[in-house]
Amino acid sequence: REVLIDVNNLKKHFKVGRGQTLKAVDGVTFHIYKGETLGLVGESGCGKTTCGKTVMGLYQATDGEVLLDGVNIHKLDKKSKKKFTRRAQIIFQDPYSSLNPRMTVEDIIGEGIDIHGLYKGEERKAKVYEMLELVGLNKEHALRFPHEFSGGQRQRIGIARALAIEPEFIVCDEPISALDVSIQAQVVNLLIELQKKKNLTYLFIAHDLSMVKHISDRVAVMYLGHIVEFANSHELYENPRHPYTKALMSAIPIPDPEEEKRKKRIPLEGEIPSPINPKPGCRFVARCQYATELCKKETPKLREIREEHFTACHRVEEIEKSNTIEVL
Ligand code: SF4
Repeated sequence: REVLIDVNNLKKHFKVGRGQTLKAVDGVTFHIYKGETLGLVGESGCGKTTCGKTVMGLYQATDGEVLLDGVNIHKLDKKSKKKFTRRAQIIFQDPYSSLNPRMTVEDIIGEGIDIHGLYKGEERKAKVYEMLELVGLNKEHALRFPHEFSGGQRQRIGIARALAIEPEFIVCDEPISALDVSIQAQVVNLLIELQKKKNLTYLFIAHDLSMVKHISDRVAVMYLGHIVEFANSHELYENPRHPYTKALMSAIPIPDPEEEKRKKRIPLEGEIPSPINPKPGCRFVARCQYATELCKKETPKLREIREEHFTACHRVEEIEKSNTIEVL
């Protein structure tokens, strides 16, 4: 399979005063195949949105590289950067604040077309109408303003804006989190349909694991700036191996109430710790029931434990071998 995006040891750190550094993304490596969806999941504050924005070039990387067709997007000159933005777009989390309230829908969708000088006059208008229809709206909506639409419709406008310049790669940054549950599935289904029609490649960022399962081919689980587990979607959901992923999975509600009652929940104590000056060792140590002294000293590397299934945990084999493992 052909790789479109190759991310190598990517870091994004922020100086936050008094010699402190917030390590939002701290050395992540993954690739995204052409035409697939890679899900990136984790709790709020794990660095997934910063990761998405750095992959898009909206943040300059502190270290590491993001290759698109082998070219590092963080080393582009202005002209090449513009070409890159035509190939890669982002759909934002909040459809309420990401659309300019003073612009008509036609101008919101047409803005990218103008920046890249793609169409003018009637052709531009026709492209805007085509995009509106593609996302389930119509040309009657073109002269209206964002406040006249519901949240789901606004997110459709955001999707139309991203697609108007015919990108190949889209970072979907929690595109459904701000929407009503009843609308979420509609927007996810629209994204799936558009992916097939336009052969799009997605990085789909979310904290909702059930939605990620529905849309993703492969999934990376992020915790405090690190990727702790990575596998194809089916494998990850059937066979999670990292203690953090197991806890996240066990919290997904099961529709059948009887099965839900029988399910063993793995408690995830406390909040995600601060990413400011994180200590060495496993980032999950403070919340992990299996932690040992080694976990405090050495950061576990992401290693392949089954075919195409990677986990960063010193004790993953021991935990698997025994359900009665001694809790230290
Ligand atoms: Fe838990 Fe240690 Fe594995 Fe980290 S490395 S997840 S602390 S057992």
